[in-house]
Amino acid sequence: MTASQRPLPKAELHLHIEGTLEPELAFELARRNGAELPWADPDELRAAYAFTELQSFLDLYYRLTDVLRTEQDFADLAEAYLRRAARAGVRHAEIFFDPQAHTSRGVELGTVVGGLVAALSESEQRHGISAQLILSFLRDLPAEDALRTLREAKPFLEHITAVGLDSAEVGHPPAKFREVFAEARALGLRCVAHAGEEGPPAYIAEALDVLGVERIDHGIRCMEDPELVARLVAEQIPLTVCPFSNVRLRCVDTLADHPLPAMLEAGLLVTVNSDDPSYFGGYVDDNFAGVRDALGLTEDQLRTLARNSFQASFLPPARKAELLASLGAP
Ligand SMILES: [Zn+2]
Repeated sequence: MTASQRPLPKAELHLHIEGTLEPELAFELARRNGAELPWADPDELRAAYAFTELQSFLDLYYRLTDVLRTEQDFADLAEAYLRRAARAGVRHAEIFFDPQAHTSRGVELGTVVGGLVAALSESEQRHGISAQLILSFLRDLPAEDALRTLREAKPFLEHITAVGLDSAEVGHPPAKFREVFAEARALGLRCVAHAGEEGPPAYIAEALDVLGVERIDHGIRCMEDPELVARLVAEQIPLTVCPFSNVRLRCVDTLADHPLPAMLEAGLLVTVNSDDPSYFGGYVDDNFAGVRDALGLTEDQLRTLARNSFQASFLPPARKAELLASLGAP
C-alpha cells in the first residue's frame, strides 16, 4: 500500500458516541432489550436520517438513544466506533457522551460510564487508538441539571478528561453554565464547549472568557468577526470543525461553500471531525476526503489538519510527540 492510499494518522476530537449508532446496531440493541422502534427495518430508519435541520435531527437522535440501556449496549456502541475509527486512521479519540440523555430515562450514570470505559480501556491494545471521555452537558436543559450531573459524576472522574456543552445552541449562551464550568475546573477537568455553530460569534468569546474553555467545538461563525479570528489565531485556540455536520444541519449550504480553506488560510488551529457520523453521512476519513474533493485541499493542507488534531488534543506531551512524529516532518 502506498502512502497516498493509507489514511493519514489523526486524532478525532469532536465525536458524540451516541451519534455513532448505526441503524443495524440500533435494531440489534432494540431486539436485545425488547424496545419498540417506529421503523420496520434498518433501511427505513436510514431513510429517516434525511432530516433537514437541527431540531428534527435532535428529535430522532434522542428517540434512538432509547435502545441504549445496559453496560453491554454502551460497550458495544463504543467498540463499533473504535473499530471503524481505526480504519479511518484515528490514533487518538476524545469522545463526548451525554449523561443527561440517559439518566433522564432511568439509565444510571455508572452504567453509561462503565460500558464506555470497558471498550475504551481495551482500545489502545485492540485498535491502536488512545481514547478519553468528555462528559457533555445538554445546554437546552437548566444549568442546575448540569450541576447535578457533574456532582453525580464525581465517583467516575478518573475516567473523565473534560466537560463539554452541546445540543441546541441558540438561546442558550455559554454564560448560563458559568457555575458548572467553574466547579468542573476546580475538580481538575479540562473544558470545551460547542459555540459559533448556529449561535453567534459572541458565544465563542463568551465560552473562552466566562467558561474558561481551552477548545471550541465548531466555531465556524468566528469568520464573521475579524477581531475574534485574530484573537483565536494569536492564542492558538483549537476549533473542532465538522464539515459534513455543517452541511446536513444547514449551517453551510454545500461542502464547496465551507469556510475551512479560509480558516486554514487565516492561521486558525482548525481540525476536521465527524460529530455524529452515522447521522451526517460519514466518519472522519470521509470528512477528510469530502473536503479534499469539494474544496480542493492539497496534501499539505490535509497533513496540517492531521497535525493540528494531535496538537489540539489533551494528550500528554510524550504521546503527542509520538503521534506528531508519525506524520513525518512538517
Ligand atoms: Zn457536536
